[in-house]
Amino acid sequence: MYYNEESLLYFDGEFLRASKASTDLYGQSLHYGYAVFEGIKSYQTAEGTKIFKAEEHYDRLRKSAELMMMPFNYSTQEMIDITYKLLEMNNLSNAYIRPLVICSPNMSLSKGQKSTLVIEAWNWDNGYMTNKMKVMTSSFERPNPKAFRIEAKVSGHYVNSILACQEAKDKGFDEALLLDSNGNVAESSGANVFFEKDAKFYTPKKGNILPGITRETVFEILDQLGIYSEEKDFTPSEMKEADAAFFCGTAAEIVALESLDNVQFKLKWEDSLSAVVQKAYRHLVVGEDYSYLKNQLQYV
Ligand code: PMP
Repeated sequence: MYYNEESLLYFDGEFLRASKASTDLYGQSLHYGYAVFEGIKSYQTAEGTKIFKAEEHYDRLRKSAELMMMPFNYSTQEMIDITYKLLEMNNLSNAYIRPLVICSPNMSLSKGQKSTLVIEAWNWDNGYMTNKMKVMTSSFERPNPKAFRIEAKVSGHYVNSILACQEAKDKGFDEALLLDSNGNVAESSGANVFFEKDAKFYTPKKGNILPGITRETVFEILDQLGIYSEEKDFTPSEMKEADAAFFCGTAAEIVALESLDNVQFKLKWEDSLSAVVQKAYRHLVVGEDYSYLKNQLQYV
């Protein structure tokens, strides 16, 4: 599914066959989840393959490594160049790119001694994820920011995401909405959340979430379209009064929510401003102008 006999990955300075590459079984990354990673997408555009927000993603990877006290010396530009080369070698255009920084064998609970950068990429040509998700409030909270560096994208944090996402699926929902330790909405297992109410947009403040790059892009789009947005604390009850809501993330892009705990959002997705934001995002990732949408807003 992710690779075949031909696929290449980047491993610590070399391009290796994915099927032949291996890692040490005595590392902190495997045993303790002490690794940092990114999720990036590239798109086929009129000017060739473009990695969307490449700088932002690789800056965040470097920041994650720093917060985890890992020795890591790649520059953002070096990693971008390697990634374009990897895409070309694998003949990929619409792709998902997964950089991962793992640490050398060490069973002690001390910081990493040497890190290795791995970059994997695979085809993502199959369009969008399920739109109109049924979401439940998770019984699992997001990791407490006093216990983790939650603004870093750390492998170990995702055990929490797996628990929440699987719980939702086992109960017949598509995804989970996790709260922070104060009972406010935080985010999904792998995406940030926005809701729309009376033509205004709201999203949780930073502090209990992974501050997503797509979340920033949504702010940019709302700003460009002249739509109000605000970061604030809110509960699931307030969110259930919304006209519309969506998750946003590099993989999910902008995905409509149909309901929260079986309470449907009021507007038909197609009639919401959120659907316009989704359209704008789809233009933006392939380098297309979306300013025409601003004129359409007057008629919404
Ligand atoms: N929150 C979590 C927990 C995530 O895993 C992701 C995906 N990286 C996001 C939010 C969205 O981040 P981004 O928009 O940078 O992909």
